[in-house]
Amino acid sequence: MSDGRLRARDVSVEFSGLRALDGVSLDLDRGEIVGLIGPNGSGKTTMVNAITRQVPLAGGEVTVDGVSLNDLKPHEVARRGIVRSFQIVRLFDHLTVAENVETAALAQGHGRRAVQSRVEELLMEFGLAGRADSLASELSYGDKRRVEIARALAAEPAFLILDEPAAGMNEGESDVLLALLSALPTRRKLGLLIIDHDMALIMRLCHRLHVLASGRTIAAGSVESVRRNPAVIEAYLGSSATTAHA
Ligand code: ADP
Ligand code: MG
Repeated sequence: MSDGRLRARDVSVEFSGLRALDGVSLDLDRGEIVGLIGPNGSGKTTMVNAITRQVPLAGGEVTVDGVSLNDLKPHEVARRGIVRSFQIVRLFDHLTVAENVETAALAQGHGRRAVQSRVEELLMEFGLAGRADSLASELSYGDKRRVEIARALAAEPAFLILDEPAAGMNEGESDVLLALLSALPTRRKLGLLIIDHDMALIMRLCHRLHVLASGRTIAAGSVESVRRNPAVIEAYLGSSATTAHA
């Protein structure tokens, strides 16, 4: 039975006895955008690694549609429809933009023709059609990051997790990204979990926020409630970030 939901329950992760995550619970539904925020080192990337089963769990459980992912390998998690991008761009530099997206689409086991049209559609959607035959290494940073997201989408995820997709982008690039990302959940019926330090982007994009500090949840809820939460302001946002958007 499908409830269309990714759930992490009481997730803990330890690195050589040090608790990087301590009992974090987070839900993501298809069709919604959740922002995972918190200061550097608060455990955001580790939470993603826990969900995609790239680090061992010291406690807790991750499920999709009620089925546990705990014992799965990362590639098996991806096959269940949970696809992530990494904080550092990971493209095949020696392949073209189209080939980069194509490899991900081919992995889905569709025929050549279906893959071809899927790739074209994604490149169009991401404003990359003109760069289809450029080598990934020749792209601007913003373009690389968009190729990465197109690649992730080629795998037809039910849940997409983006780790700092706007990092290193200028304001114009980040505006383009915002428009692309806000359309995804409805257009592709996927749940989007996004980590980013660009608070303007996060607050405009997300339906809900989840805030970590030192491996624990310090706040979760609507953008407005989180923004006004004193613990969040103290731990992370700072007065400038909260007023910047008022
Ligand atoms: P964030 O993404 O919020 O900046 P991370 O999840 O990367 O934070 O890191 C959380 C904490 O876990 C940090 O103290 C970091 O040093 C530690 N950590 C993360 N990954 C590892 C690892 N593979 N081995 C040891 N410590 C790690
Ligand atoms: Mg990180």
